[in-house]
Amino acid sequence: MTLQKLRRWLGFPLEDRYRVHIEQDIVQSSLRPGIFSALLILAFQAVMMVLSLLRKGGPFASLRRQGYWWLYVTLFSVTLLFLLLIVFLMRRRRPCLDTFFLPLQTFYTAFLCLWGTCVTLLDQFGGNSLSVFTYVTLSAAALTVLQLWQSALIFTGNCLFLNLLLPYTPAGPDNFYSNAVNSCFVTLGAFFISLWFYRSKVSSCYAKIIIEQQNADIRSMNVQLDQMAHTDELTGMKNRRSLERLPLDDRWNEMPPVSAMMVDIDFFKQFNDTYGHLAGDECLQRIAAVIRQFMEGREGVAVRFGGEEFLLCTPCRDTAEAMRQAARLRRAVEELGPCAPDGCCAGPLTVSVGVTVYSPARDGSAPVLQDLVSRADRALYIAKKNGRNCVVLL
Ligand code: GH3
Ligand code: MG
Ligand code: MG
Repeated sequence: MTLQKLRRWLGFPLEDRYRVHIEQDIVQSSLRPGIFSALLILAFQAVMMVLSLLRKGGPFASLRRQGYWWLYVTLFSVTLLFLLLIVFLMRRRRPCLDTFFLPLQTFYTAFLCLWGTCVTLLDQFGGNSLSVFTYVTLSAAALTVLQLWQSALIFTGNCLFLNLLLPYTPAGPDNFYSNAVNSCFVTLGAFFISLWFYRSKVSSCYAKIIIEQQNADIRSMNVQLDQMAHTDELTGMKNRRSLERLPLDDRWNEMPPVSAMMVDIDFFKQFNDTYGHLAGDECLQRIAAVIRQFMEGREGVAVRFGGEEFLLCTPCRDTAEAMRQAARLRRAVEELGPCAPDGCCAGPLTVSVGVTVYSPARDGSAPVLQDLVSRADRALYIAKKNGRNCVVLL
């Protein structure tokens, strides 16, 4: 295993682009357990202090009792300070908490382990127990999030400190071997618990980030796909599929009449046959631009309905206004002039327009799309029969 693989397996260092995100996540998930365990420690120390006060002789009856008393008071005060600082950070803006919570928690953990060692050393004057050292070290490893170097420094440093001082306690020299072995095993255990928790926390954060990123990618791809599925590539206009979204039947009775115009280029096949399909494409784009300009400032929708057919649906006052609009559009196309690439087209390209108007007063129920299309289509058929380049209302 290469060094890099090992470092990745251990979960550090965090990749720079994810660091802030992961640290924020760790802060959020450590906040509650941190506060909860601090409250528990406060309560526990308060009980111990009360018990000391109630004991016969009080907390100052012997030097050893005094030692315990001051250790309870110190842990109580530091924990209270730790909690107050967390509350202070939480009331500040977010970056403050994200920046200072983890270092604060690391310092508190280091203090807690040192406290456990001091109590253990004091315990040696009445027996030979390492139990406080054991449970404080293991709880600190399980309840806080420490990076590899932090847990190495805190747990190993603490173990060294304990073993340096143990020989000077009454039972120390006789039990040096067993104390050293036991405390080393506890330290090793704490180190692995801490490492394991840190690793699983970081990897679950990575997984969360990657899932969020993939979701965002899928969302933006869906938006893109949706746009592509509803847009005509050649003209940039909406396509026929987008008509499915026309809100024709909402509040129909309060709506003004709706006009539908089916616009079809005249003799377009002939144009393509003469000048080629690329020139035909260019014409379609120019006519689409005319339609887009015509729709500017108007409500409604214009789509490329088929090959050289466009459908426009707009609200209008009455049939006369619908006819005026259609005539204006027909004229605007005619005014484009010759569309052939070399400008040598015999005449301008023209369109025929089939118009129909649906009004709540006349038609009652809201039209379905097929009604609009088939009536405008029939009108267009008549316009073609009437000689093209004209507007017919049905
Ligand atoms: P009419 O006046 O009766 O409408 O005659 P027309 O030739 O316009 O109608 P027809 O339906 O016979 O032909 C339509 C032509 O439109 C056939 C096809 O070559 C052309 N067309 C359809 N889609 C496209 C396209 O995307 N690009 C080009 N260049 N031509 C197209
Ligand atoms: Mg046609
Ligand atoms: Mg045509």
